[in-house]
Amino acid sequence: MATQEKVSEHNLGKIISHAKEYGFVFPSSEVYDGLAAVYDYGPYGVELKNNLKTLWWKSMTQLQDNVVGIDASIFMHPLTWKASGHVDSFNDPMVDNRDSKKRYRADQLLEAKAEEYAKAGQEEKGHALLVEMGRLLDAGDLNGVREQIISEGIVCPVSGTANWTEVRQFNLMFSTRVGSVAEDADTIYLRPETAQGIFVNFLNVQKTARMKIPFGIAQVGKAFRNEIVARQFIFRMREFEQMEMQYFVRPGEEMKWYEFWKETRLKWHQAVGLPAQKLKYHVHEKLAHYANAAVDIEFEFPFGFKEIEGIHSRTDFDLSQHQKLSKKKMQYFDNEINQNYVPYVVETSVGADRLFLAVLCNAYTEEVVGEGENQKERTYLKLHPAIAPVKAAIFPLVRKDGLPEKGMQIFNQLKQDFRVVYEERDAIGRRYTRQDLIGTPFCIAVDYQTLEDNTVTIRHRDSMEQERVSIEELRDKIAREVSFSRIYEQL
Ligand code: ATP
Repeated sequence: MATQEKVSEHNLGKIISHAKEYGFVFPSSEVYDGLAAVYDYGPYGVELKNNLKTLWWKSMTQLQDNVVGIDASIFMHPLTWKASGHVDSFNDPMVDNRDSKKRYRADQLLEAKAEEYAKAGQEEKGHALLVEMGRLLDAGDLNGVREQIISEGIVCPVSGTANWTEVRQFNLMFSTRVGSVAEDADTIYLRPETAQGIFVNFLNVQKTARMKIPFGIAQVGKAFRNEIVARQFIFRMREFEQMEMQYFVRPGEEMKWYEFWKETRLKWHQAVGLPAQKLKYHVHEKLAHYANAAVDIEFEFPFGFKEIEGIHSRTDFDLSQHQKLSKKKMQYFDNEINQNYVPYVVETSVGADRLFLAVLCNAYTEEVVGEGENQKERTYLKLHPAIAPVKAAIFPLVRKDGLPEKGMQIFNQLKQDFRVVYEERDAIGRRYTRQDLIGTPFCIAVDYQTLEDNTVTIRHRDSMEQERVSIEELRDKIAREVSFSRIYEQL
């Protein structure tokens, strides 16, 4: 019997080294010692991430009767961000420690203190601390926030001192300039969310795709935030990817759809393979200026339960704001009730990178196999076959007697339908290990019997069991396991 251990507390380090060592995620521009909070996806990382994005895209568009997609630009007219509120209030409060010169988010220092209170059984005290912080932030009283930090005795973990600077608001948007001559250039922003590209295209999409309310618009794309404290690997990046869907509904019906999407999205994460006990809702008590209800879906990372997706009932805030600033109507004529209105919006917004990290943490498995002296450790990625970067690896047992040629034949046949690899170097055990480490669900071995009866062995990643199947059956057998429909069946 194998004893399995899933990655737990404080094992993020293992995941980061695994991701780098086996071609999933590299620090950006590593030859120059990297760039903080920016990462590149390697050969297996890009396959896994593309699979997740395609899966999301298909489940949110193809499987829905009334959701269509767009691909809007990263640059948008600067007024977009005035209208959305990002220019004036997309801020985080930051504070520096004068001794260590380290920068922190003031709200996160206080949240960590509240968590400490909760762990010590003083939940109410922690709650009161956060309520007061919320009040001070809403009132723009940054001095008050600083006083809270000091009176709570919060010290910098590096210097150990409470020598804090003023608390300042820091806008998270990156700006740049358009135009060839800097003097006539206008400041524009790298979008901090993909949602606004959907809002400004609301009427174009509604008219051209002849959509009737309720309907949704989906988009996958890059977003940029100048995060003050970027930690925890690809959990908080300065350049990341979002998968967002805005669902346009009749005013007054938004709570029904909010509940619908809240449930639908939780189920989706489970279908991808994230276990129910590692997922939970976190309902927002303090709502953003545009929302009348909001919930996060949180996943239990090695560093605790953290948000992977947000579901927000955004009211008619965004469309009304764009209507106001652009002076163009953002209304819909609902011929069922004979009324013109600005639709309400329910948003689902998930980070592709955070989802990737959740899936990777969940898949990383260490186990001890064998008995007595034959016991050994093995590490593998228990990824759902539908999202695994490589679906099958083809190995000739030896590099002679026509086995490589037979292996290549199978490879050439399967590559039409699946991402497969062919490998003939090293002992077959080492080849299995390499595929385990990147999560390949099937390894196909070509041996002498293959030449006689056209059968191969398939070794299954999780059970390590082997079965003999005919080459003719291979395609269908793999297709059944790796098809997205295996995931859709559970939705
Ligand atoms: P957080 O509170 O963690 O900063 P948020 O509430 O600001 O997140 P949203 O604005 O709701 O996040 O964005 C929706 C999703 O985009 C998040 O659930 C997350 O998956 C992803 N996301 C947001 N910021 C980042 C980031 N800096 N790096 C990676 N993913 C991000």
